[in-house]
Amino acid sequence: MNDEVEEGAQRKMQFLYALRSKGVTDNRVLEAMEAVDRGPFIKGLFSERAYEDMPLPIACGQTISQPSVVGLMTQALEISPRDKVLEIGTGSGYQAAILSKLARRVYTIDRHRRLVHEARAIFAELDLVNITAITADGSFGLAEQAPFDRIIVTAAAEDPPGPLLAQLKEGGIMVLPVGQSDSVQHLIRVRKTADGLEYDEMRSVRFVPLLEGLGKDG
Ligand code: SAH
Repeated sequence: MNDEVEEGAQRKMQFLYALRSKGVTDNRVLEAMEAVDRGPFIKGLFSERAYEDMPLPIACGQTISQPSVVGLMTQALEISPRDKVLEIGTGSGYQAAILSKLARRVYTIDRHRRLVHEARAIFAELDLVNITAITADGSFGLAEQAPFDRIIVTAAAEDPPGPLLAQLKEGGIMVLPVGQSDSVQHLIRVRKTADGLEYDEMRSVRFVPLLEGLGKDG
């Protein structure tokens, strides 16, 4: 093996080890995360740190989440191959790419047009044809494609947005951070059952806020 190949293999092993040690144990999720290289989703200065378990800055003042948090949220969604998934907060597109390996169809929404365009280009490059990326205020969900089997929100709101709860299928799961943007937020998992909504609190996290309307660039 030449040095570069060996280095790549070692980096991948360390990346997967970090995920496991932080509680990402579902094999399908680990396989999806092994299959999607985080490198192309991070541009510029920070691209060298793509394989560290850290959130990193992306365009429009936003952040790509920490891989272990991506893994834990994805695992909590319990996605099956037939599922239609909605993501609010496309950001770099990394989370959506992982969802696309596990689900039948992924819709992802961001309020920044530039992020949506850049993410679309990466999805095309990686041949991820089951993702549709849309510029909109995701707080309202995507009524024309509802209901969804799974919903993931990757920006923090004080409460789960009503339209998203309404667009979740019965039997469906939604995972999202709740809390004020400048204080402690918690990841929660909401299950919609015939008897109503069941809430589970996971761990504390720190996400950028879910904001109203479109970003300045679109
Ligand atoms: N999932 C992303 C990280 C998301 S960062 C990744 O894998 O890289 C949070 C994103 O939520 C930001 O890109 C921000 O623009 C977006 N966002 C915030 N409020 C929003 C809203 N109301 N509707 C859609 N996107 C929103």
